[in-house]
Amino acid sequence: MDQEKKPIRFDDQVVLITGAGGGLGRAYALEFARRGAKVVVNDIGAARDGAGNSEGPAAQVVEEILAMGGEAIASMDSVADPDGGEAMVASAVGTFGRLDVLVNNAGNLKDVSLVKMQPQDWNAVLDVHLKGAFCVTAPALRVMKNQNYGRILFTTSAAGLYGNFGQSHYAAAKMGLVGMMQSVCIEGRKNNIQANAIAPLAASRMTEDLLPPEVLENMDPATVAPLVLWLCSSACGESGSIFNMGLGCLNRVQLVTGRGVRFDPKKAMAPEELAGMWPEVLSMEGAAAYSDMNAFIFGLFS
Ligand code: NAD
Repeated sequence: MDQEKKPIRFDDQVVLITGAGGGLGRAYALEFARRGAKVVVNDIGAARDGAGNSEGPAAQVVEEILAMGGEAIASMDSVADPDGGEAMVASAVGTFGRLDVLVNNAGNLKDVSLVKMQPQDWNAVLDVHLKGAFCVTAPALRVMKNQNYGRILFTTSAAGLYGNFGQSHYAAAKMGLVGMMQSVCIEGRKNNIQANAIAPLAASRMTEDLLPPEVLENMDPATVAPLVLWLCSSACGESGSIFNMGLGCLNRVQLVTGRGVRFDPKKAMAPEELAGMWPEVLSMEGAAAYSDMNAFIFGLFS
């Protein structure tokens, strides 16, 4: 059977999705459940800026899944708390016996330009997106290594990949997640654990007041779910990659390194010498991608 026609199913698999009480996470949770997964719906039910909590959103998504005949439990643990990460992984394993897929999706938004940013703004955003991914991924990886199987997805953002006004903290966290994903990809390789990152574009409370209605109507979160399910399926062999998905567009993003210039490593150049070679330094002709840091460093010697 062509891969295209083989159904992507998650029967007997356990999927943990953080921040799944609304927006993108809810759309992923419903689709995983429709395709047979047992789902842990994690969400503290916070406001957009991360403040407060409510058990409503996670409980409601669990109800939706149960109503369609699926299996799910709610978790109200915070991703920003190491004990919370341990607890949600433990409840996945305790209730369903294993953990096959982790989707790091929880997030908050607290836009402010860097000149006005206070340490508490920085921490509030980094704590959920970046530290949050650590708090959940570390215990999940331990379980997956023991099972010799796992799929981990990180949620980056166009703001992180390309930059955005008022989002230096959010962008730092989102690009940090790319570095983390690449390292998890390397650390998980020998245990059949794959990691990828997606930068979604979807209508949710994060974007509802930033874009006009005619754009938002082309950004249903359900249209991002197919990429998440594909990357997290056993049929997909992809690992270490980054994808943009949304607004009718799916493409791959890659960090590439230009050929640059060579110089005598035993002798520091004068800064003035750089001026003449600058066009060659900037050129991306013949640029290459590297699978890890050592491939890059040893590539310089070859
Ligand atoms: P959303 O606000 O609907 O979803 C985020 C969820 O995370 C909320 O339900 C919230 O309660 C939950 N959450 C917040 N703090 C938490 C914590 N400490 N522990 C557990 N849950 C917590 O927004 P969304 O648009 O669905 O965003 C989902 C992810 O996608 C986020 O990581 C966001 O940064 C990313 N993203 C979204 C877009 C977009 O266009 N919507 C673009 C780029 C990236």
